[in-house]
Amino acid sequence: RGSWKYSTAAAIEEPIKPPVTVEHTQLLINGIFVDAASGKTFSTLDPRTGEVIADVAEGDAEDINRAVSAARKAFDEGPWPKMTAYERSRILFRFADLVEKHNDEIAALETWDNGKPYEQSANIEVPMFVRLFRYYAGWADKIHGLTVPADGPYHVQTLHEPVGVAGQIIPWNFPLLMYAWKIGPALACGNTVVLKTAEQTPLSALYVSKLMHEAGLPPGVLNVVSGFGPTAGATLASHMDVDKIAFTGSTETGKIILELAAKSNLKKVTLELGGKSPFIVCEDADVDQAVEMAHFALFFNQGQCCCAGSRTFVHERVYDEFLEKAKARAVQRSVGDPFKGGIEQGPQVDSEQFEKILRYIRAGVDSGATLETGGERHGTKGYYIQPTVFSNVQDDMLIAKDEIFGPVQSILKYKDLNEAIHRSNASRFGLAAGVFTQNIDTANALARALRVGTVWINCFDIFDAAIPFGGYKMSGMGREKGVYSLSNYLQVKAVVTPLKNPAWL
Ligand code: NAD
Repeated sequence: RGSWKYSTAAAIEEPIKPPVTVEHTQLLINGIFVDAASGKTFSTLDPRTGEVIADVAEGDAEDINRAVSAARKAFDEGPWPKMTAYERSRILFRFADLVEKHNDEIAALETWDNGKPYEQSANIEVPMFVRLFRYYAGWADKIHGLTVPADGPYHVQTLHEPVGVAGQIIPWNFPLLMYAWKIGPALACGNTVVLKTAEQTPLSALYVSKLMHEAGLPPGVLNVVSGFGPTAGATLASHMDVDKIAFTGSTETGKIILELAAKSNLKKVTLELGGKSPFIVCEDADVDQAVEMAHFALFFNQGQCCCAGSRTFVHERVYDEFLEKAKARAVQRSVGDPFKGGIEQGPQVDSEQFEKILRYIRAGVDSGATLETGGERHGTKGYYIQPTVFSNVQDDMLIAKDEIFGPVQSILKYKDLNEAIHRSNASRFGLAAGVFTQNIDTANALARALRVGTVWINCFDIFDAAIPFGGYKMSGMGREKGVYSLSNYLQVKAVVTPLKNPAWL
């Protein structure tokens, strides 16, 4: 089986002009846009070309300190945690309506800064963002404690109270959705927030945060600081006035965050980290459907998903057919300007990720995996990478162990289900898994045996607002979305009152 030569004929033409202008580049502190205290800025780049989109205020320690004091004051003095839950809920609903109204501009900003297909931003991600905020707006006035029994003559109740100031650090792969997963539950529970966006993608968060204030959010409740990890991020994670830190990103940075939290004030920590998710194609699977789902599981969002199905385990009986079809599907994948209709894959987010992915591809070839298609840059400028498929991948190869975070599918062969379970679980990660089978018993057995936070059976990447998401093992701590996320942003107070007349117990 020779390598298929990927066609570069569809080289990138002149980039399409994004249908939006950048309005907000400053930091949002205490309800107003301000420059960084240092006056410094950094450039955010267009991944289609590497050219500058805008210069953005670069927040560092001093700006985080300003943002935390604003959030602290807004929490301690109110009105946010003190207003009725119904009022908070209404502000969040109004915000969702405003985002919906500006769907297309926000989607354009997201695509411009990140490189993801505009159709994905406009038809999937902004609507999911809106849905998420409506979901948590709905929770805001349904959060309450319990009346609990005591052994003696006491009336005992629990109050579910906000934690206080929440620090949140998000990555660049889903800038808007990560914003929603973090800020939605935090605000619904009555916390105030300092958000540090990823340095690669600061723009969409500034735009929507402006709308949050138009919706009636009091100043200081949400503060957004653009900036870098070791300066702004580390200051937030180690700040003595921050009560909770939520982080999504790499496992290495997750460890640093945990350490900074421990060394400062033992703030509560939730972490959503990396993955190396198995996608198990069983021998009874409909191969065409399995190929399509496995392709989506890996290539969606340019492969830049923490839960990407990046170890495609295929039963030996269907392996050859699967491989031929998976390769053909990757060759057909439409790569190009993400603002163009029908494009499935845009550029990777930046040159660092682009180079890293190409290094992993070289490591795959060097370690003896078979490069079936792709393997090189696509076009001549920007950070586009050809959809790449490796077969004959072995568990001990780097490409089967590390998170590549790019459009590189690794196909591995297995003989029986126990082997597939064992090999799937032999990873330091445990974020998600895909299972493709027509047998309900196989599906049930795998769903229980796999040591991961999400199992998708005959589907993948279903991210409804109510479905919890998070990792086993080194993929993280805690769950986001759904009712589970509320507990990240609440603490429980027990209130005990003696009863005067125990007879009425
Ligand atoms: P990263 O973990 O370095 O960055 C994520 C966020 O953490 C960013 O906002 C960054 O500024 C911040 N950060 C970085 N260092 C920090 C520090 N010392 N203290 C506080 N905050 C800090 O991730 P990256 O460098 O953007 O990407 C590296 C790899 O991480 C990727 O190749 C991919 O494998 C993985 N990744 C995973 C996810 C995910 O959703 N799990 C998202 C993005 C990247």
